[in-house]
Amino acid sequence: MAFFDPLSEKKLLRDVVATLAASMRKQDFLTYFKKLSIVEHTKDRIVYGVVSSFMRDNLEQKFSNEMYAATIACAPEITGITFVVDTMIENTTNTQVVDCQELYKQTTAKKKRTEIPGHEQVDGIVSRIMNEKYRLDNFVIGPSNQLAYAAADAVSRRPGASYNPLFIYGDVGLGKTHLLQAIGNGVRMRLKDKRVIYTTADRFLTDYVSHVKTRKVDRMREKYRAIDVLIIDDVQFLANKKQTQEELYNIFNILYEANKQIVLSWDRPPKELTELEPRLRSRFEWGIIVDIGVPDFETRLAILQEKARAKQFILAQEVAEFIAYNTGENVRELEGILNQLIAEYELHHTPPTIENVAVRLKKLAITDDLSGGHRAARPRIGGYKELVDAVAAHFGLDPELLIGENRKKEYMIPRQVAMYLLKNRMHYTYERIGNIFSGRNHSSVLYSCRKLEHILKKDQHLFYEVNVLRDRLGI
Ligand code: ADP
Ligand code: MG
Repeated sequence: MAFFDPLSEKKLLRDVVATLAASMRKQDFLTYFKKLSIVEHTKDRIVYGVVSSFMRDNLEQKFSNEMYAATIACAPEITGITFVVDTMIENTTNTQVVDCQELYKQTTAKKKRTEIPGHEQVDGIVSRIMNEKYRLDNFVIGPSNQLAYAAADAVSRRPGASYNPLFIYGDVGLGKTHLLQAIGNGVRMRLKDKRVIYTTADRFLTDYVSHVKTRKVDRMREKYRAIDVLIIDDVQFLANKKQTQEELYNIFNILYEANKQIVLSWDRPPKELTELEPRLRSRFEWGIIVDIGVPDFETRLAILQEKARAKQFILAQEVAEFIAYNTGENVRELEGILNQLIAEYELHHTPPTIENVAVRLKKLAITDDLSGGHRAARPRIGGYKELVDAVAAHFGLDPELLIGENRKKEYMIPRQVAMYLLKNRMHYTYERIGNIFSGRNHSSVLYSCRKLEHILKKDQHLFYEVNVLRDRLGI
């Protein structure tokens, strides 16, 4: 089959060689890898070209495993590789060749400059390299995360303009890092001149400590001053680290005053924010605090399908449903299972069926029930009445009037909030909500819910109120 796009072929080749160089002993790599080319690339095979039959035999015998591992790390669809002698490899016009020795020099030189693997320097500050697979367009939206998503989306479009700081909290494995990196990637993509730093709180701490050691804390502040978007993941790590919090507070103020965007994540409920210094905590409260909750069945199913699609793995609908139905709340766990199914498929060519998935889940002690029983739902508030009462109390209204037909303006939004929460958080049907609200019809409820969603995207204050209500109700 013909070559694919020559530019991407060359990139693939460079990636494979770089992966290889990073995983092998230096001496072996420099001895056995001189020049490498791609002679042929079909949908699942690559034929690599080498300089001589001696090299070919060596690679086949000694390094085919390494080479294969590096290949599938860069091109997961590949199932086999071979080596041939490429008579064109020394031809300087041949663009499909990578000089491994040269590349090795380049990659190690680069490493020395940034020093920390997986990180890069932005204006002298160490930033984690963001994973491009974390984007807003592949973040699956559901009732458990739509507010967090909406805020992340707004921030990535207009950093510093609204929701500043944005504080996202939620349990592990529910998508905080995904959203934070998606904000960073989104800003970098749209607003190329913005300087974005993504770091974790422990990295921030290390940075701080090293500046303290060299007595250059002022210098650290100076560097951060130049940042447009500062994203710090896993701030819980700073709990009880007083001095570092102090510094974060200083940097925070500098950035905030200059209308720079700050985004933070935290893996515990906000009431545990007491582990942070009151001054810092009150800064967080200037902006918006949103949570990511546990995804419901439909969201889990959509996430699973999205992940399978991204890995070009075909998962039968009934199998996907079975997994989403039976796995827990942690999205990472869901992904782990998918990865295992893919590995199994690659090894044994057994496509997942409900039966073999059930056996696998049972092994992982995720379900005992092979017939597909449902996990217990999380406790929620009792029923709609409690919700209507809470919304009415929050807005200082009479609950009877809230569900009634009063068309006064002050009832409109609270009524929409109540309907919206019943629909999105408690999963009532439009019909049922209509009945609760003095027999309104389905489409009028639908309209109200859509309308509110629309308003929430713009009205930061109301957004916050809805969050407060949700917190209070535990939904
Ligand atoms: P956290 O940082 O909250 O512990 P992560 O962001 O690392 O969680 O999420 C764990 C995994 O689940 C990631 O691979 C992420 O892409 C995935 N994930 C979580 N929520 C979603 C979602 N709504 N849509 C798509 N992927 C998700
Ligand atoms: Mg995380």
